[in-house]
Amino acid sequence: MGPCPFLTPGHGCGNGGRRLGVSFEAQDRPVSAQDPDVVVVGAGPSGVASALLLARAGHRTLVLDGARFPRDKACGEGLMPSGVAVLRRLGLLDALVADGAPRLHSVTYQMLGQPFRATAAFPRPPGGGPGWGLGVRRLRFDTVLAEALRVEPGVTFVEGTRVSGPQRDALGHVTGVIAEGSAIRARCVVAADGLHSPLRAAAGWTSPAPHHGRYGLAGHWRVDTRDIHGITVGFAGGHEWYQAPVGPEELLVSVLGGRHTIGAIAHDYAGSARAALPLVAGADPLGGPLAAGLFHQRPRHVAGDGLFLVGDAAGYDDPTTGEGIAVGLLLAERLAVHLDAALTERISPSAAAAAYTRDHRRLWTDRRRLTRLALLMAAHPRASRRAITRAATRPAALEALLGVNCGYWGFGRLSARDWLSLAGI
Ligand SMILES: Cc1cc2nc3c(=O)[nH]c(=O)nc-3n(C[C@H](O)[C@H](O)[C@H](O)COP(=O)(O)OP(=O)(O)OC[C@H]3O[C@@H](n4cnc5c(N)ncnc54)[C@H](O)[C@@H]3O)c2cc1C
Repeated sequence: MGPCPFLTPGHGCGNGGRRLGVSFEAQDRPVSAQDPDVVVVGAGPSGVASALLLARAGHRTLVLDGARFPRDKACGEGLMPSGVAVLRRLGLLDALVADGAPRLHSVTYQMLGQPFRATAAFPRPPGGGPGWGLGVRRLRFDTVLAEALRVEPGVTFVEGTRVSGPQRDALGHVTGVIAEGSAIRARCVVAADGLHSPLRAAAGWTSPAPHHGRYGLAGHWRVDTRDIHGITVGFAGGHEWYQAPVGPEELLVSVLGGRHTIGAIAHDYAGSARAALPLVAGADPLGGPLAAGLFHQRPRHVAGDGLFLVGDAAGYDDPTTGEGIAVGLLLAERLAVHLDAALTERISPSAAAAAYTRDHRRLWTDRRRLTRLALLMAAHPRASRRAITRAATRPAALEALLGVNCGYWGFGRLSARDWLSLAGI
């Protein structure tokens, strides 16, 4: 990776707190005082968190999203406690709770159609803070986040504007983006444009996805959820159903599995959900389902040449462990620290890219192992039945795994006894 162009001599850090006049004229010139310091592409959770933090550090931040809000998004809508903690640090938690997002205290695993089930509570965060997750209906959650962008001094938020790719100079350094055919210059670009990140693809950083990838569907049902305080994962032999309360009368029901299974369920999502899940057997669907896949995306790089990937754009394995939003928010915090240091010339741009790449690896390594373990269990009903039967009387191992998923500790936390009970012994 070469040096990043946004530290052009004579262009210091931004002065947040004022509105930008956004020009969409293509020009071949250095970044000027009118240009944003940072362009963030995508106003999902990762993009919003990155933009708020960069603007609060004093950098003029332009956020572009191809959609207009409110917009919906296929998601299991279970925000892990580690993500709740980031929202609290951002000052957004009260607005979300006021919006009706229910607290989630546990995860229940069950074999569908069989009497085996085990419940594990989210462990207490070792450093304090919220020990519960949130059921976040994306239609409302992302709207609250978008509203936070609109009122943040130092942020300009432009909706309905698709970005086709990064703009580069003759040396290949990213100097801005191409939006709706026009160039916008900036000192650096953050791609928070989701799982199939067009910016990542245009940068040539997308790796081929595996042939046998997984897909998902997510819909909502009118169910009284006042007595439901956790996520339920139901193994169905080759695919899994997920249920989570996302409002007082709104239950999220998503299903994950291979292409053919999800394709077949998509033909009759409501009928399949009713047949699989007693809770919705007599309930009315509220809408959907929305579909998504191919999940497994591993980019070649997550930062370099003035381009930084965050959230799903920076790579993703599978929604089965429900940590996507939380990790996106945690990544945004790390990204903002390193980008701020580079924009204020305390470290070099390449040092910022290297530090962010290390943080990305650190945040994902154990979580990816956990995802592999969860997928292994899901694919082997006999193993998952044994583990669930054992966890019903001894949930400690599952709770330790939830702590790994939240980033509270690593796999070293699990004792030999924990591993034995996960093996059903
Ligand atoms: C079925 C399913 C179940 C899931 N379950 C969970 C769960 O329970 N818990 C959890 O935490 N995560 C879950 N996830 C994952 C979660 O949805 C993602 O990790 C999360 O949405 C990533 O956020 P993001 O900000 O990176 O991207 P996104 O939320 O995808 O936002 C990307 C934004 O970029 C915009 N954009 C895209 N391309 C362009 C462009 N060219 N120009 C301008 N704007 C653009 C889009 O309009 C969008 O607003 C699930 C995902 C699926 C599909």
